[in-house]
Amino acid sequence: MEHRPDFEPCFTCKHPDFWAGDVETIYRRIEAVEKGEVTQIGISPGGRPFYVVAYGDREPFVSKANFNSAVGARDLTAYADKSDRLRPVVILLGPVHGEETNGSTGCVNMMQIMETGEDLRGKAWPELREIAETCRLLIIPTANPDGTARFAPGCFVGCEPYEVRYWAQGTYSDGTLCNWPQCKAKHPMRGSNVGFLGAYFNDDGINPMHDEFFAPMGPEAPAIMRVAREEAPELICGLHGHPSSVAVLEPAYVPMYVKRECSEFARRLKARYEQVGLPCAEPFTPQPDGDQPSGPPFNLTSALFHTSGAMSFTLECPVGFSGDNALACSHEDILEMQLHLYHECITFAHDRLKAWPEAVC
Ligand SMILES: [Zn+2]
Repeated sequence: MEHRPDFEPCFTCKHPDFWAGDVETIYRRIEAVEKGEVTQIGISPGGRPFYVVAYGDREPFVSKANFNSAVGARDLTAYADKSDRLRPVVILLGPVHGEETNGSTGCVNMMQIMETGEDLRGKAWPELREIAETCRLLIIPTANPDGTARFAPGCFVGCEPYEVRYWAQGTYSDGTLCNWPQCKAKHPMRGSNVGFLGAYFNDDGINPMHDEFFAPMGPEAPAIMRVAREEAPELICGLHGHPSSVAVLEPAYVPMYVKRECSEFARRLKARYEQVGLPCAEPFTPQPDGDQPSGPPFNLTSALFHTSGAMSFTLECPVGFSGDNALACSHEDILEMQLHLYHECITFAHDRLKAWPEAVC
């Protein structure tokens, strides 16, 4: 096992005022909401509430069956009759991994755009706001507040890779750094061999991305799934962070039509990013899952499709740390990536609503 390098983790990173890297800032932005509707959807093991902020009226729809039963009936409209729906429903799912504060920053800036037309830097986004006002936009600015509360620096811009491991995955009791993906081999992450608990986990050691969805261990994942089930969204974008350029990950254990839609979304996102000069990974080529016992895993992204029919995907955005394979980027760059992403999410959701219950492609 690799030993922890001799370093003092940084507890105070300097980040700009538009950044939302701590729960106090996120809660303050939620309290400032006037035009949106704020609903508490759960409370973490550490006693921290989490919320959904809704913009755009909810359009009632008839539901006669849960999603998987409707699929069984070969009639998705039995789960959600969307024939009267005018506004596609989009969920921006903020960090379920507490340290991936690029997502919470994007979320609170999007809330500010919906409130005032400008992000927290004062930059106007008229086209984004206009299209966002044509949908029902549901923003979950923090999905693992316990994890974010433990992430003292609040961002990774300029950090070293081992600092990311320390804050994200944590340490064992002998001081060695946990690593990805081996940190998933102990779940819940608690017991005498756990040192510093990484921000992946809530205060009970649950990583909501890998909760036991059929018998939940933590409150976060079931609360998020309930929002999805009740709203029948067209699209759910799960906001995560990684070293390199923005990438739409291939969702696992969903039908091939959803994989094709998601790959098409990735192609359109790349085209949008090219127009504004932002880097973006190549779209994935849809593949069948489960060819090998080594994965991929069924995770929260997969579960959200199976409870709501949404095109649910994991979006990895660079977090700005230094390293060989890392994309150097600033706080500003990260915010731009988030906001252009949201624009494409809403545009795509319109197409998906038009096609429902058929596939976009
Ligand atoms: Zn993540």
